[in-house]
This record gives sequence, structure tokens and C-alpha cells, in this order.
Amino acid sequence: MRSQDHDRLFLSPPHLGRHEMNYVHKAIEDNWVAPTGPNLTGFEADICQATGVGHCVALSSGTAAIHLGLLLLGVGPGDEVLCPSFTFVATANPILYVGATPVFIDSETDTWNLCPQRLLEAIVDRIARGKKPKALILVHLYGMPAKLTEIIAIAAEYELPILEDAAEALGSTFNKQPLGSFGAVGVFSFNGNKILTTSGGGALVTNDASLAQKAHFLATQAKDQAPHYQHSEVGYNYRLSNILAGIGRGQMGLLDERVKRRREIFAWYKEHLARLPGLTVALAPEPAGSRSNRWLTTILLTPTAAEDAANATARVTPETVRQQLETHNIESRPLWKPLHLQPLFQSAPRYGGEVCANLFARGLCLPSGTAMTETELRRVADALAECF
Ligand SMILES: *Cc1c(COP(=O)(O)O)cnc(C)c1O
Repeated sequence: MRSQDHDRLFLSPPHLGRHEMNYVHKAIEDNWVAPTGPNLTGFEADICQATGVGHCVALSSGTAAIHLGLLLLGVGPGDEVLCPSFTFVATANPILYVGATPVFIDSETDTWNLCPQRLLEAIVDRIARGKKPKALILVHLYGMPAKLTEIIAIAAEYELPILEDAAEALGSTFNKQPLGSFGAVGVFSFNGNKILTTSGGGALVTNDASLAQKAHFLATQAKDQAPHYQHSEVGYNYRLSNILAGIGRGQMGLLDERVKRRREIFAWYKEHLARLPGLTVALAPEPAGSRSNRWLTTILLTPTAAEDAANATARVTPETVRQQLETHNIESRPLWKPLHLQPLFQSAPRYGGEVCANLFARGLCLPSGTAMTETELRRVADALAECF
């Protein structure tokens, strides 16, 4: 953090613990900074343990993990991939990398994730149009589990492999099973804003040993078995470094603590934002069986009828609130802008879109960093109260 920013409250800044430096220091001391090394295998073992998945390949980013995941599922030029519209662009960019077309699906209002009804409608319609989608990317937005029971049943019926984008959901569970472990392939991100970070990094997890081996092969330039450099396939340079994996090892030891704190922050906001005058602030509850890591606390603004009538022109919107918080040097952000509304994906097919467009129009992400103090939380609540 820059010194002039010491007062600024960020959305979700990195939060390091006490042990990261030991692992990084050891890597440098042992001159084991490349190519792989004990931190990398240790980090992968930590991820396997935390998620209950058999195999893990640590990568340079979550985006790289999604890219490799699509390749592992055999997605290629001309294929279609089902994908929620309501997500970060990194979910869908790799669909374009492999020459496939995203087919966007709307959200449901309980978890804001992929709507099972819309999913079924999309599959049936794509098949009727002559092409069965090749895979489904499933996202757990802001750490909240998607409707897994329904979605897994539909995917199984149509034999659609699931690539689980759990980039925001490390530490979340559904019926006590860790997210990221439900799909054929799961993906995590260790980008700087996520619940744990390696400054930049990602991981691919799978229970299929041959898929893990293939991911490792593709991530290290697709070298064939030979003493000389021999290549029969396109490869990538996607491996995480042993130094960054050292940060990851230190961070993984903090996962339970960090989830606990994110959930406390959510609970604090829920308690203290319940009654802002003129406004219903909705903080999405967890459906039965779901346990969210509450990566970011998100709110939906719904002006009350009274506020609407009295103040129709000076309506409180997420953008007016964001600007007001900014005057207090507090960072907040709109929810992800749906991908079907992005110029990049203008011509992509879509099924629905009104639900997530409405969430986008009403929602805001609040500072949720695990290092936040009670005083800082109060600063946000006070600044929010001023908006109304
Ligand atoms: C952060 C994120 C990614 C990408 O991860 P990177 O490590 O930043 O490449 C993918 N999907 C979602 C939903 C994310 O939030």
C-alpha cells in the first residue's frame, strides 16, 4: 500500500500472515526459485487437502486454469460452451482462446448464480438447433454456492462435463463438500483481491489422474518424452513459480481463519445496515446446505415506496452511493457487469439476462478485506448512512 493511501479502505486487499516469508526465504536460501520445487508440491498438497480433490496443478493464474480446463474437456474451434452471464470476464475469455462460442445463461435470484431452468432451456434449444454444447462452466459468484443439486442433475442427464470456476469460492462448501470439487475440473484463483493470494496465481484441481497429468504437460510447453526438445502439441508456459507457491503455502494455513473473518464482516454489515432510512438493503442469505466464504459483502439497493415518491429525481443508485463512499476514501464497486451486455460478447447467444441485468443495476460490493477493523467497518456504515 502506498503511504498516501494509508487512510483508504480497499475492497479486498491482500492480507498476509506470519509464515509466507519463511517459505519464500527458504526457496531463495536453497536457490530453489525455478523451475518447480518443494513449495510448489507443498502448495498443491495443501490445496488437495483443503478441497478434498485428488490432484492439483498450481498455475500462473485462474484464467490459465480455465483455459487448460477447457482444453482438457476437449473444447475446440466451433464448439459451444454454456456459461453464466453474471460473472467476471475471466470466466469467458478462455472460451474465446480455444475458438469456441460462449452461450450465456441468466441468473436465479436466490444465489445470483446460473439458473437451472434457463440452463435446461438452453441445452434443449441448442440441441434443437443442431449442436450440443461441449461443456458447462459453473461459477460460484462472491463465494456463494450455485444450485448444485439441480445443475449437476441436468448436466448428468445431458452428459455435459462441468468446469467449476471456484475462483471466488475457495473455502465455501455445499452440503459440507468444498466448492471446486464438484466438477470434472475445478479452478481456483490466487489473484491479489481473492480470499487468499500469491500476488498472482491459480490452480486446477481434478480427481482424474490422467487429466491432471495432461494439465501439467500443457502448462510446461507440452514436452514429449525425449531427451531432446520434442513437441507434438501446442503448449503453454502456465506453471506457478516456486517462490509464489511459498506465499501460497503460508496463505493456505490461514484459510479457515480468513473464511471466518469474511463471514463475520458480512454478519456485521447485515446487522448494521438493516435499517437505513428510505432503503431496503438486501444481503443475500445462504440457502439450506450452502456455506459461503462471503468473499465480498454485496448489497442490493431497493428504494422504499416513500423514498421513491418523495425523491423520484434524486434517486439513490449504486453509482451515487459509490461516489459518496469515494468522498470518504472508501472503495466500493458495482457488481460484475453481465457478459451479455459487454461489447466483446455482443453477438453471443443468450438465454434470459434480465435477472442479472437487474442485479447489476441495483448492487454494490462493499469493502470486505479480512484485515478490516471494527472502526473501519463503522466508517463504511456511517458513510453509507449519509447517502440517504
Ligand atoms: C478472479 C476470477 C477469475 C480469474 O482469476 P485470475 O487468477 O485473476 O486469472 C476467474 N473467474 C472468476 C469468477 C474470478 O473472480
